[in-house]
Amino acid sequence: MGILGIKTYPDEALRKKSSVVKRVGKEDRKLASDMIDTMRSANGIGLAAPQVGISRRIIVVDDLENTKSSLVLINPVVIKKKGRSSLCEGCLSVPDVTNDILRPEFIIVEALDLDGDKIKIDTGGLLARVIQHEIDHLDGILFIDRIDFLRRRRIFKKISPKVCMEL
Ligand code: ZN
Repeated sequence: MGILGIKTYPDEALRKKSSVVKRVGKEDRKLASDMIDTMRSANGIGLAAPQVGISRRIIVVDDLENTKSSLVLINPVVIKKKGRSSLCEGCLSVPDVTNDILRPEFIIVEALDLDGDKIKIDTGGLLARVIQHEIDHLDGILFIDRIDFLRRRRIFKKISPKVCMEL
């Protein structure tokens, strides 16, 4: 079990664009396993490598239909999106802030698994949302960047109480 330190806003690691994993290796598998441990111990349902200070395109998300397992997506890319929905988001890297965020409701994602094999996930609802939130992290984007400016200013003046899940 390996629990890693989670970087929090405004740490610069959260703003870097992560690099593509060219070949999935042993250290990527170790990192993914540590990220799953870290996510679980922090009661999150998703975590991206930049949140633990590693600038590689790797995310882990809870398999929401099977709480005992987690999905590992390497180099995830959204190839199709449909619909729009708004849901309250939080982030392990931005403690004490939550806000409704508008995102596509259904997505198709392509990625590599831990064996380096191509996988495709066609999903909607909460899982689609978590995956999009984590992919944003790989591009240095935080959910607070998706809140309009005035609202963001208000939130950061008076940190809002934690009321929903951490992605
Ligand atoms: Zn996050």
